[in-house]
Amino acid sequence: MGKHTLNITDTLYDYLLSVSLHETTVQRELRMATDEMKEAMMQISPDQGQFMALLVNLINAEKIIEVGTFTGYSALTMAQALPEHGRLVACDINEQWTGIAQRYWQQAGVAHKIDLHLAPARDTLTTLIKNGQQEAYDFAFIDADKQNYKHYYESCLQLIRPGGLIAIDNVLWGGSVADTADQQPDTIAIREFNRFINDDDRVEISLVPIGDGLTLARKKGA
Ligand code: CA
Repeated sequence: MGKHTLNITDTLYDYLLSVSLHETTVQRELRMATDEMKEAMMQISPDQGQFMALLVNLINAEKIIEVGTFTGYSALTMAQALPEHGRLVACDINEQWTGIAQRYWQQAGVAHKIDLHLAPARDTLTTLIKNGQQEAYDFAFIDADKQNYKHYYESCLQLIRPGGLIAIDNVLWGGSVADTADQQPDTIAIREFNRFINDDDRVEISLVPIGDGLTLARKKGA
């Protein structure tokens, strides 16, 4: 037993999926179609999707905010885990990517649970807050432009209820966060965000090394 997380080789990862992944046909088709795109690395891994769906179920989430939808795999996976009356607000600015997403949401029969806001997420979140939606949400997934992470996080923290959960993606950023020589703006933004949330006593956190690193932050007060 080592002192840290096991190194997952490709062989071991394939094994992990073979004994644990439960994907619907539509999920698999969307994932495969997205894998053909040059931006494929922006898609979450299927085991991460399944993990987030489990979290949605565990906290009995009915209302979700997603910041950064891309071609819709994460939204599809979480929407499937929502009850019939559950709703997911999906924020993205890319019409082409979310057009693909909407096709698969329709096909999977979850489109009625997803409200797509094709606008800068900062604006959408600000509008939700202005409309009195504070503490109306149970779960938030942040996976958009890294330099706005702190802003998205602050807005989501207002929008989720005490006891609700915020999941923040790409917090290990391919490992570059630990490489002090890497001074790319996105790397710096994630590094600063990681330090910030570690010191934030409004939440309890765990940085889970799944996918590209996923920080879970539970809002205190419940
Ligand atoms: Ca991501």
